Amino acid sequence: MTEYKDIATPSRTKEILKQYGFSFKKSLGQNFLTEPNILRNIAAAAELEETDRIIEIGPGIGALTEHLARSKGEVLAFEIDQRLIEVLDDTMSIYPNVTVVNEDILKADVKTVANDIFESEGDLKVVANLPYYITTPIMMHLLMSGLDIQSMVVMMQKEVADRITAEPGTKAYGSLSIAVQYYMEASLAFIVPKTAFVPQPNVDSAIIKLTKRDRPIVEVTDEAFFFKLTKSAFMQRRKTLWNNLTSFFGKDEATKIWLESALNEVGIDPKRRGETLSIQEFGVLANQLKANKR
Ligand code: SAM
Repeated sequence: MTEYKDIATPSRTKEILKQYGFSFKKSLGQNFLTEPNILRNIAAAAELEETDRIIEIGPGIGALTEHLARSKGEVLAFEIDQRLIEVLDDTMSIYPNVTVVNEDILKADVKTVANDIFESEGDLKVVANLPYYITTPIMMHLLMSGLDIQSMVVMMQKEVADRITAEPGTKAYGSLSIAVQYYMEASLAFIVPKTAFVPQPNVDSAIIKLTKRDRPIVEVTDEAFFFKLTKSAFMQRRKTLWNNLTSFFGKDEATKIWLESALNEVGIDPKRRGETLSIQEFGVLANQLKANKR
């Protein structure tokens, strides 16, 4: 097969941007990668197979997209910026396995689009260099999309990557760590310096890998309530679990008895801080609160 020159070399990127008179929009988080090795490593971390269905968010000029396409899997890329569609039409023209959709990922019904576009029945994988201004909403949108996502290899600002992969008892651990790790096993793959982008962002980035759990980390009877509880426990990080829970659920006698007995029944000290509770402990507490009468 013909080997094409990588899009993401600094010189080729410059050439493409010049050819189309493209100017970056900061408001769309447009920081393009110009390090072919990093892109190769991202694609390698995703362990792609020919039968995979791959979703990318924000293909830009196709720097990562071409590495995904070379895996021979089917690639579906969502790009909000209309100006990039004609660029991608050109740069991706040699890859028949790539479909670009000009939509805002947060407004897209990803499940319906994916079902329309993909032909194979293989694993569904997300691989992307995310627009940083909406990293968390995109992650939640995908996790809640109802799609059976097998794994995600995504680049984001290092600080958010730390929060997503954090363990209980650490500063970075919070409701975001729990929301993601409830569904997926999370690990940090590698760090990317800001010098690998044009234009350079203000912060360093990291690639994380999320892999779907075979079984949920904890069986919860009411997911919405479980997420509400975890959020309430971190409302004021310096406060105890008791103070956060009573601030959120109420300080009346009936609510206090309801909270106190559930904590007591599952053996969680109300004086602990939310950040010391494991996901399993939050799950058990949520189930107990739901089971008890308020
Ligand atoms: N994948 C390219 C790369 O690695 O060089 C570009 C990554 S750049 C960090 C983020 C991309 O996401 C940009 O192309 C931007 O236009 C696009 N984008 C921003 N907001 C978006 C949204 N809401 N939906 C889809 N794409 C979006």
